Amino acid sequence: MRPEPAPALKYLAAYPAHVLAQVHVLLDQGQLGAMLLKKYLHSHAVRTDRALYDYVQSIKATKLRGSEPLSKVAFDTKLHVMAHALGTHTAVSRVQGSRLKAKREIRVATLFKDTPIEFLRMITVHELAHLKERAHDKAFYQLCCHMEPDYHQFEFDLRLYLTHLDLGGKVDWPSGPSLNTQAGR
Ligand SMILES: [Zn+2]
Repeated sequence: MRPEPAPALKYLAAYPAHVLAQVHVLLDQGQLGAMLLKKYLHSHAVRTDRALYDYVQSIKATKLRGSEPLSKVAFDTKLHVMAHALGTHTAVSRVQGSRLKAKREIRVATLFKDTPIEFLRMITVHELAHLKERAHDKAFYQLCCHMEPDYHQFEFDLRLYLTHLDLGGKVDWPSGPSLNTQAGR
C-alpha cells in the first residue's frame, strides 16, 4: 500500500512553504491539537447571542469609535466555515419611508462558541473591520491589527485549529473564568 498523500491544507493555503512544512511536521507527529491546547488554555464564556452582542459592542466602542451602528449580532448554526469566509458581515438595505437605510449585521459561525477567547476576538475584529473596509486589502488588515495587535497570530492559530477539525481531530478546551471576570467587572 502506498502511504496516504499529505492532506491539502485548505485553510492554510495562503501561507509560505516553510510554514506549511512546520505544520506537516506537527501533523505527522499528531501534535497539532496538543500544541493548541497548550498555547490557549481555556474556552471563553460568550455562550449566547446576547453575550456575543455585548462582547462585539465592547470592542467596537473602544477600538472602532464612530463606526456605523450594528443592528444585529448573532451566532449562526447555518454558517459554514470556509477557507475565506469565517464569519459574515452584511449590509441589508431597506427602504424606510423615503430613505434608504443600511442595516449592519454580524454573524459568527457557531463553532466559535467552543474556542478560546482569542479566536472569537479575531473573528470579531475581522467582521468589525469590514464596517469600514470592504476588501481584504492592506488598509483592512491594518485596521484589524489596530484593533488587535496579535491579529495575524490568532488568525494563523485559528486556521491551524480548523485544519485539525478538518482532519477529524478535536480540542476540548476546559472552560475558563466566568464572563464577569473576563470583562473585568
Ligand atoms: Zn472578510
